[in-house]
Amino acid sequence: MPCKVLVLAEHEGGAVAGITYELLGMAHRVAGEMGWAPAEIKALLIGSGIAGAAAEIAARGAAEVIVAEGPAVQGYTGDAWHRVVEAVAKSESPEMVLFGHTPNGWDVAPLVAAGLGVPLATECSAIARESGAFRFSRKAFNGKFVQVIDLGTARPLLATMQKGAAPAFSAATRGRVRPVPAGVGEADLRARFVEIKKGQAGAVDLTQAAIIVSGGRGLGGADKFAVIRDLAQALGGQVGASRPVTDMGWLPHEHQVGSSGVTVSPKLYIACGISGAIQHIVGMRGSGYIVAINKDAEAPIFGVADVGVVGDLFEIVPALTKAVKEAKG
Ligand SMILES: Cc1cc2nc3c(=O)[nH]c(=O)nc-3n(C[C@H](O)[C@H](O)[C@H](O)COP(=O)(O)OP(=O)(O)OC[C@H]3O[C@@H](n4cnc5c(N)ncnc54)[C@H](O)[C@@H]3O)c2cc1C
Repeated sequence: MPCKVLVLAEHEGGAVAGITYELLGMAHRVAGEMGWAPAEIKALLIGSGIAGAAAEIAARGAAEVIVAEGPAVQGYTGDAWHRVVEAVAKSESPEMVLFGHTPNGWDVAPLVAAGLGVPLATECSAIARESGAFRFSRKAFNGKFVQVIDLGTARPLLATMQKGAAPAFSAATRGRVRPVPAGVGEADLRARFVEIKKGQAGAVDLTQAAIIVSGGRGLGGADKFAVIRDLAQALGGQVGASRPVTDMGWLPHEHQVGSSGVTVSPKLYIACGISGAIQHIVGMRGSGYIVAINKDAEAPIFGVADVGVVGDLFEIVPALTKAVKEAKG
């Protein structure tokens, strides 16, 4: 069967990453609009010890899972993976190849684009069809502008998609799994996968938190985070952060929420001094109830908030902490 959309599947040690199903959700949406058959949606899975992952992806969205295994690709390196993606893209001739805008996806996609000699749209949040052409949209300037990208007539169209750009594909499918040679040997590579180091045991795991109080650059410094910790503690929640906070070392990286941090879905998310850049929003918009506190009434975070408070967080957050403590008796 020909291939119209090829999705680069991702996994962590053989466990399928959620972005894979979001990409398949996007692939099915695009295929539906184009009148392409679901049988023309394929996934490429690279690694080792991935038979279980391949079967799962075939049962949830991919008509065919092309599996490339081998010693040279057992751990991620852009050097090895881009060669596999390029070879499969050449043999399958898809209209479109979708990557997650994840650390691996945004690393490998430009290498694939360079190798195939085609353009690439990165960090996209939508794909639309206009005047007979595909348009890839990405947010710019903290979501104040949307850039619309036309990749022209070169094929395949390549794009990295933001987490949350499409709902995860959830229907049952009966795809097949097709092993192919990885086609790359260890001697070919200039980069070598060494190991993945796990974070320290006991480190915060925001993905499991029911309540998260997050602070952003608006806090102004590491020493100011006491105000956030106090509210999180009073509510029995965890402390989250935007990227500048972890980049500046105010908090460790495991506190970072967003496209290059963790995706969270607590019952309650309180964003304090966070502007609401798309990279932050994609990581928290699945929260049950969102409260935003920001002194700028125009801050984009208010666009996703259930309750927005315009004001100084250093006045509002302590007052909230006090009220929570009093209410708890
Ligand atoms: C590839 C890539 C990946 C990224 N990944 C992530 C990610 O995973 N997570 C993430 O968060 N970002 C990420 N970013 C960064 C993102 O684009 C934004 O720069 C970042 O989210 C902004 O953080 P912020 O809202 O804390 O800071 P700012 O945008 O500087 O906003 C600070 C806010 O605080 C408010 N404020 C200031 N003082 C007060 C006060 N006293 N009371 C109330 N409000 C106040 C201001 O009005 C402002 O809205 C990424 C960017 C790129 C390019």
